[in-house]
Amino acid sequence: MISSIKVETGTAEGLGDAVIRVRDPRTGRVEEFIRRADPEAVAAAAAGLRESQADWAMRSFESRLETLSRFAAELAARRPALARALEVDTGRRRIAGIEAASLDGMLAGVRHAVQSFGQAVWRDGVSAPHVRHTTQWVPYGLVGVISPWNFPFLLSMIDALPALAAGCAVLVKPSEVTPRFVETVMEAVAATPGLGAVFGFVLGDGATGQALIDQVDCVCFTGSVATGRKVAVQAAGRLIPAFLELGGKDPMIVLEGADIEAATDAALRGCVLSTGQACQSIERLYVARAVHDAFLARLVEKAEAVRLSRPDISSGDIGPVIFEKQAAVLQAQIDDARARGGRVLTGGTVETLEGGLWLRPTVIADADHDMAVMRDETFGPILPVMAFTDEDEAVRLANDSDYGLSGAVFAADLDQAERVGRRLDVGAVSLNDAALTALFHEAGKQSFKTSGLGPSRMGADGLGRFLRRKALIANTAAPLPLQAFREDG
Ligand code: NAD
Repeated sequence: MISSIKVETGTAEGLGDAVIRVRDPRTGRVEEFIRRADPEAVAAAAAGLRESQADWAMRSFESRLETLSRFAAELAARRPALARALEVDTGRRRIAGIEAASLDGMLAGVRHAVQSFGQAVWRDGVSAPHVRHTTQWVPYGLVGVISPWNFPFLLSMIDALPALAAGCAVLVKPSEVTPRFVETVMEAVAATPGLGAVFGFVLGDGATGQALIDQVDCVCFTGSVATGRKVAVQAAGRLIPAFLELGGKDPMIVLEGADIEAATDAALRGCVLSTGQACQSIERLYVARAVHDAFLARLVEKAEAVRLSRPDISSGDIGPVIFEKQAAVLQAQIDDARARGGRVLTGGTVETLEGGLWLRPTVIADADHDMAVMRDETFGPILPVMAFTDEDEAVRLANDSDYGLSGAVFAADLDQAERVGRRLDVGAVSLNDAALTALFHEAGKQSFKTSGLGPSRMGADGLGRFLRRKALIANTAAPLPLQAFREDG
């Protein structure tokens, strides 16, 4: 049986272990549930998609892009429903609307990437001029996508779209924490001729994710380092590629001479946007001793002006903490920092308000690397600040992390920011700004250290990940006979 892809309400009696409850992050109410797709259901969904993949792969890039454009139009026609579902999933309105509208930008990126994989030409050999060769790009059959809860729709589509354009079939398993958006996406898929045969979703938790990895030819995973490791091990057991986009602990360096007004603006946005629930959030601030006090004072002022978007969802700046368990991590990191001599200058307590969990921007002074808040991923609006004496110390501290997703440097001028940025052991650096990878998707980047594995998901590589390179080699001369290799010839 193909499992349900709807979030359901009402009684789940008799469904036993198959049920996963879904919480509303603004009210804390748990009145909905999904049915976990079991391994048989995942296998059935995978088999169905595989059947149609060969025909999909036979079509031209242009023809597949036409289908994906129609899908984008169908989804645009359902945008209010999609935005509403994302709003309930994530407890935020403005960003849910932006996320619901994000497909067009992703599709434009894929359309651009396709230009790098046009008709391959035949080339004369360099080592053997009578041998000619060309490339055929062969898509993987079935790609599995496993996504997290912080941007449920965007992070499901960001790998699915280029994989579909490449000619793969795609099966997505979104986070069990935020599955409400799937129904609208599948309605748009059903309204797009030819797409439903190669693009599907299954709902469930980690067990369903594991079942998915057992069925696919390649897996794209976005989520935590801990789960990413498990995914990599399972994929290695099957000898299939795993493209991993994992957690971050992004540093921001503020050098002497930086514009404090601009730097505090960027730090605050980079940290608290989406309530800090973004992989590229700024989570560590290193500030030159000469400007440290002025920076800190202004940062606290601005942090205190941030308003919670409650009780009216259309008001304020930041939404609730989406995932209950994350709220406990945030409080534990704040308490640990306090116990180790950190000074909490503003914020500091996760509050339960009308059932939702909320944290005001929390600035912690006198942070150091003994504190969990400087070592472990936070995923919340916490800004720990540490002073440094010179550029070398700033670089050493910023690089003293298991993570290497991205980072930021603020300096008096771009040359100085670039010089320091080039020394950071991370996959992307924002210069005189912060967290630019969230706003600008054209620059190819990889995730360093434990933050990920595989080629860039942006740019031409984002599509190329799903295309295997096959060589066609033609000998225009007579084939060499075996005698040409005779030992005594
Ligand atoms: P998570 O690792 O807990 O879960 C991610 C997904 O994996 C979910 O769909 C979950 O059901 C599934 N899963 C759990 N166990 C599994 C298993 N054994 N096999 C296969 N799938 C399994 O992460 P999360 O809490 O949903 O998301 C937050 C994390 O995602 C943070 O660490 C954040 O930094 C990271 N993230 C990274 C990026 C990036 O691009 N680098 C973007 C967004 C979020």
